[in-house]
Amino acid sequence: MSDIFCKIINGEISSAKIYEDEDVLAILDLSQATKGHTLVLSKKHFDNLLEIDDYDYLKVMSTAKELAKAIVKTFNAKGVNILNNCGEAAGQTIMHFHVHIIPRYEDDDLKIDFVDHQGKFDLNKLKEEIIKNIEK
Ligand SMILES: [Zn+2]
Repeated sequence: MSDIFCKIINGEISSAKIYEDEDVLAILDLSQATKGHTLVLSKKHFDNLLEIDDYDYLKVMSTAKELAKAIVKTFNAKGVNILNNCGEAAGQTIMHFHVHIIPRYEDDDLKIDFVDHQGKFDLNKLKEEIIKNIEK
């Protein structure tokens, strides 16, 4: 694999590393959508959330939780978003699984908007369709 995160993990490209263990790497996002914006990556390559195995997923997510605490404390943030974009349609630009830790501040200019489509869908019908495909 030759995506930029694999190159960072292999040490071919430098990054502002804040945490590393045998399975996970966390680096500051170059864009800094808000102060302290961090990416947590699985060291093993998986394209996205739909591909990653449970072990690596849980390692990334528990690391993200712990780092979120540290980042919120460090910058006295007022909240935090933990965000995963899965697939191009969802805004994923690097096809190597990662989650964003985005600390939130009262005066930040980040917008995550949900449009209300209440009434557009029959929830009981949607529910039945989804339940048929749950594999666990
Ligand atoms: Zn990769």
